[in-house]
Amino acid sequence: MSYEAELKLFIDGAWRQGEGDRAPVINPATGQAIAEVPLASAAELDEALEAANRAWPAWRATDVEARGAILHKAAALLRERAQDIGMLLTQEQGKPLPEAVGEVHGAAQMFDYYAEEAKRQGGRVLVRPTGQRSIVIPQPVGPTATFTPWNFPIYLLAKKVAAALAAGCTVISKPPEETPGCTGAMARALDDAGIPKGVFQLVHGVPDTVSRHIIGSPVIRKISFTGSTAVGKHLMKLAADGMKRITMELGGHAPVLVFDDCDLDKTLDMIVPQKFRNAGQVCVSPTRFYVQEGIYDAFAKGFAERTAKVKIGNGLEAETRMGPLANQRRLPAIAGLVEDARAKGARVLAGGEAGDAGFFFQPTVLADVPNEAQAMNVEPFGPLALMRSFKSEDEALHEANRLPFGLAAFVFTENGRRANRLGDGIESGMVGINTFAISSADAPFGGVKESGSGSEGGVEGLQSYQVTKAIHQA
Ligand code: NAD
Repeated sequence: MSYEAELKLFIDGAWRQGEGDRAPVINPATGQAIAEVPLASAAELDEALEAANRAWPAWRATDVEARGAILHKAAALLRERAQDIGMLLTQEQGKPLPEAVGEVHGAAQMFDYYAEEAKRQGGRVLVRPTGQRSIVIPQPVGPTATFTPWNFPIYLLAKKVAAALAAGCTVISKPPEETPGCTGAMARALDDAGIPKGVFQLVHGVPDTVSRHIIGSPVIRKISFTGSTAVGKHLMKLAADGMKRITMELGGHAPVLVFDDCDLDKTLDMIVPQKFRNAGQVCVSPTRFYVQEGIYDAFAKGFAERTAKVKIGNGLEAETRMGPLANQRRLPAIAGLVEDARAKGARVLAGGEAGDAGFFFQPTVLADVPNEAQAMNVEPFGPLALMRSFKSEDEALHEANRLPFGLAAFVFTENGRRANRLGDGIESGMVGINTFAISSADAPFGGVKESGSGSEGGVEGLQSYQVTKAIHQA
């Protein structure tokens, strides 16, 4: 696989050098530029829109088995190329190689799952006493635009694209400018699997320019975005002008409620690697740790000891457990949150500093963090663990629901009734009870409150690319 070959635009079935400007691609482990990515011009975006519109009637009329066969083939190619694509991902984004390779396999699962799920999409018939039949059928919503971020650039792209293609939509994707090579490799897998011209297209570009242009086009019927709440609100407003359907998977601030009946060592062994997975740049990353007062000190000590052993470094090195932050702008953001918390009384139990070269920030543990600290209110999206103690279940639930976010939440307890109460009472799209395994191809994933709108994954993810039509026949 050649890196240069993947750094292109994929428009109307052709790989293009691009006629617009170019932007540098930076390896976050070194801070050095490793390549340049072409940014699509307005004329190229128009070509992509025309191609998506042209390709739609034939794709929606393509038998679901035939659509599924292409998606299965793309999945097989992704698995075959997982090691090479994983290397590109690590160089562009920083995560440890095993995580990167695992992400490519996760993307392959998405293609396989939706290739099959689409076959199970039936309609329903309502039979009237008059003899009239009312037939309710799902239909593809139409040409779709996806905007995806850099934290899981392949998996999040696959989640949207697999569901939309399986539903019979054509897709224009704008991947993040940080990771053009690995997302190009996913487009290559679809191309090699035989995706027809114009059915799937990949355009790089300046985010605001591309999103305004594409969302403003009457061709596009649906927008799916994953990223920050602020950008999600902006794109929703753009979509509102054309009354376009949306799926928004936005920021979170996951609370973790740890009760004194849990097995402390086992719980810590599970929690600490999850906190620092992908350097904390995960929308469902465990972030606010509320720990019952009797075990708070032991929890904080055990957390800090395990954190001190997390090996940070270049993701291509075998012993690395946490890579750098994905881009330069996250460094001052995280350092600012630590400083603010410290000034407001938080104790730094581990880390707290940026590294010398690249975009590294130490895995950091802050205890006794007051609710007034910025980090307790804005999504840190970095390697910060924030801790406070609580006395009662009611207090813990109140804290969990305090923020305007509601993506994921976690509870550690051996008390089944409490698990049920909190599973029901926490305001979030997903709740993990004694587990962090809350994202899979077959289950819905999405937020409530300001964490988003709609779900991805599962049958719900497929239905988000469909409209419902009722045909009444006398
Ligand atoms: P950002 O808000 O500038 O960008 C987030 C993502 O949205 C990027 O991939 C970017 O390319 C894209 N984007 C930005 N403006 C856009 C626009 N006008 N149109 C289309 N796409 C646009 O933030 P950032 O500095 O890249 O990341 C930091 C914040 O983003 C974090 O604090 C976190 O809240 C959020 N984020 C969330 C996720 C997630 O999985 N939900 C992923 C990445 C980033």
